[in-house]
Amino acid sequence: MDHAVVFGAGLAGLLSARVLADRFERVTVVERDRLTRGPRRGVPQGRHAHALLPRGQEIIDELFPGVVEEMVAAGAVTYRPLVQARMVLGGNLMCRTPMPGQGLALTRPFLEDHVRRRLLALPGVELLDGWDAVGPVFRADAVAGARIGRPGEDRTLDANLVVDAMGRAGRAAVWLGESGFDRPAVEEVAVDVGYATCYLDLPDDAFGGDLLILIGSTPANPRGIALFRVEGERWILSAGGMCGDHPPTDHDGFLDYVATVVPPSMPDVLPALRAAPPPAEIVPARFPNAVRRRFDRLRRLPRGLIAAGDSICSVDPLYGQGMSAAALHAVALRDTLARGRDDLERRYFGAALRVTEPVWQLALSADLAFPGVPGEPPLASRLIGRYVGRVQRAATRDPSCAIAFARVVGLLDPPAALMRPAVVRQAIRHGSRS
Ligand SMILES: Cc1cc2nc3c(=O)[nH]c(=O)nc-3n(C[C@H](O)[C@H](O)[C@H](O)COP(=O)(O)OP(=O)(O)OC[C@H]3O[C@@H](n4cnc5c(N)ncnc54)[C@H](O)[C@@H]3O)c2cc1C
Repeated sequence: MDHAVVFGAGLAGLLSARVLADRFERVTVVERDRLTRGPRRGVPQGRHAHALLPRGQEIIDELFPGVVEEMVAAGAVTYRPLVQARMVLGGNLMCRTPMPGQGLALTRPFLEDHVRRRLLALPGVELLDGWDAVGPVFRADAVAGARIGRPGEDRTLDANLVVDAMGRAGRAAVWLGESGFDRPAVEEVAVDVGYATCYLDLPDDAFGGDLLILIGSTPANPRGIALFRVEGERWILSAGGMCGDHPPTDHDGFLDYVATVVPPSMPDVLPALRAAPPPAEIVPARFPNAVRRRFDRLRRLPRGLIAAGDSICSVDPLYGQGMSAAALHAVALRDTLARGRDDLERRYFGAALRVTEPVWQLALSADLAFPGVPGEPPLASRLIGRYVGRVQRAATRDPSCAIAFARVVGLLDPPAALMRPAVVRQAIRHGSRS
C-alpha cells in the first residue's frame, strides 16, 4: 500500500495531489461537494474576484505544463501587467511601464475546473466527490487509513499519508489533539473584512483597453475594489472593506460604496459602471480573521498527517495571495518529498512555513497598520511599512520601483528585493510625501 489521501478538492488539495502523484502509487482526493462546473457550496469565496498572482500562475503552469495556454484558449483573459492594469496600492497609482510576463484573469471556478481536469488525467489519481472526510485512522502514531462517509455509508481507505486541504475549516489540528498530540498554536488577526461581488456586462474596451483595475484599501480609506475582465466576456467587480466597513448588496448602495474608492484620476470608471445593465445579483462574503496554525512548531507529529493551503495559513483576501500560497505549499511538498520520506511531516511543515512567511508578513504588516485591527505592529514592521510607502510613492513615477514592487507583491521576488540599491536610490529620491 502506497496511497495518499487528500481531503478537499480546492486549489490546495488539487495541487498537493498533483505533486503526490509523482511519489505515491495512488492518490485519492476526497471532496464533500459534488463537483460540477461553476461555483459550489464548499468554496463560497469562489463567487468573488480571485486575482491569481504571477508566482501562483507560474507554479500552476509548472505543475500542469500548458494549462495556462489551455485556459487562455478557453477564454481566460491575458493582460500586460503595469500596461493594461491600473494598480493603486497604498493610495499610489503605479506608473505604466512594460514588464516581462503576462497577467491572467479568470474566475475561481474556471481555474479549478481546468486544474482538476488535468489532475484527474494523471495515472493513479482518483476523485471521490460527494464524500465527507471524517478523519485519519492512526496505528501506533502513524496514519494507517482515512475515514470517509456519506449519508448511510462509511468507508475506511488504507492510506499512509493524509493531507488536510479542507480550507479554513481544516481539522488537522483537532485530529492531532484527539490523538494525544499537541495542537498547533494559532495566530490570528481580526480584520473583519466584508466583500460584495457582481458580474457586469461591459465591453472589453470599457476602460480604454485596461483589463484590470485594483484599488487597495488604506488606513485612510479601508475600502478597496477589484474589477477585471474574465472568461465569458464579462467583468467581475468585487468591493471589500476592512474593520467592519462592508459594502452593501443593493445595486445603488454598492455603486455608492465603489464611488468612495475610485480616485478622481480615473474619471471613466464610475460612468461605465453606472451605465452597465444592473447585475443579476450582488453576493456578499465575510472574512472575520486571518489565521495561521503553527504546525511547524510542534515537537511531536504523527507519521503521515500533513496540511496545506488555508488549513495552515489563511490570509486577508484583500491582498489576493491565498491561491498562490496554496501553490507555494505544493512546491514545498514536492521539494520535501524529493529528499525522501524520512521525517517528512516536520520537514514539510518547516518548508511550508518558509515559503509562505513573506505572504503572512506582507499581509500582517499591512493589516496591523489599520487602527481598527487589534494588535500593535512590531517596530520592524512599522519601519518596513514606512519604507514600503516610500517605494510605492516612487513607483508612481519610477518604472524600476514599479516593477520591483509589482514583482514582490506578485510573490516573484522576496520582500528583500525592495532593498536593492537601485530601488533604495529611487525610493529616497522620489518617495517622500509631496
Ligand atoms: C472573499 C474572498 C476573496 C478572495 N480572493 C482571493 C484572491 O483574489 N486571490 C487569491 O489568491 N485568494 C483569494 N482568496 C483566498 C482563497 O480563496 C483561498 O486562499 C484558497 O481558496 C485556499 O484554497 P484551499 O484549497 O486551501 O481551500 P478551499 O478553496 O476553501 O477548499 C477547501 C475544500 O475542502 C472541501 N472540504 C471542506 N470540508 C470538507 C470535508 N469535511 N470533507 C471533504 N471535503 C471538504 C471544500 O468543499 C473545498 O472544496 C479569497 C478568499 C475570500 C474569502
